[in-house]
Formats: sequence, C-alpha cells, structure tokens
Amino acid sequence: MTEKTIFKKIIDKEIPAKIVYEDDLCLAFYDVMPQAPVHFLVIPKKEIASVSDIGPEDGELIGHLFAVIGKLAAQLGIAEEGYRVVSNCGVNACQTVKHLHFHVMGGRPFGWPPG
Ligand code: 5GP
Repeated sequence: MTEKTIFKKIIDKEIPAKIVYEDDLCLAFYDVMPQAPVHFLVIPKKEIASVSDIGPEDGELIGHLFAVIGKLAAQLGIAEEGYRVVSNCGVNACQTVKHLHFHVMGGRPFGWPPG
C-alpha cells in the first residue's frame, strides 16, 4: 500500500488544517506557508495526483472546484482586486504534494511572467 499524501491525511482529519470550506467533493484550507496575505488550497477529495491525471470523467468535479474557488475568493475579500490560481504540475513546476491542488492567492499584486 502506498503512503497517504499529506493532503489525504488532512482530508481524513488525521492531521489538522485551518479549513475554509468543505463539502462532499472538496476541501479548502489555508496553506501552512502562505505566499500572499490570503493563500488557501482547494483540493478534490478524490485522489488525483496532478493536472496530468485529470480524466474526462472528472469534468464535473473540476468545474465544481472552480466554482468553489470563485465563491471563496469573493467571501475572503480578494475577488474585487484580483487573485491568482496556480496548480504546480510535476518537477519543473515544483509540485511537492502529489494530490491535485489549486493554490488561490490574493491580497497583493503578482508579476507576470511568473519567472
Ligand atoms: P506544491 O508545491 O505541491 O504546489 O504545493 C504544496 C503546498 O502545500 C505548499 O504551498 C505547502 O506550503 C503546502 N503544505 C504542505 N504541507 C502542508 C500541511 O501540512 N498543511 C498545509 N495547510 N499546507 C501544507
């Protein structure tokens, strides 16, 4: 059996997290090392390793995640000035946790290109 990822342990409530939102399909919680005044992660409860592992059967789930992102961004007061949504995928993008997650960051300006 493969070791649970840290995010699966958060889903299973084996380790604590500052949870922002939860429903049957997803969980949102604050990043432990925030890169912006507001920085939370939105993850599916389904174990999908990365963007590369999303299948056609996940379309509704991914749509739901983005609807949640938009709703939480508004609730947490970052929607009006703008925010960034990032999903690191694989080694070159510095993905460290192999459970699909979307970083949602706001409360400061972000440069482009990201570097
Ligand atoms: P990645 O580098 O894979 O795109 O992002 C993983 C993110 O998860 C990082 O920003 C990191 O700070 C966050 N993270 C790692 N372990 C934990 C944890 O135990 N709790 C929380 N809340 N965030 C974590």
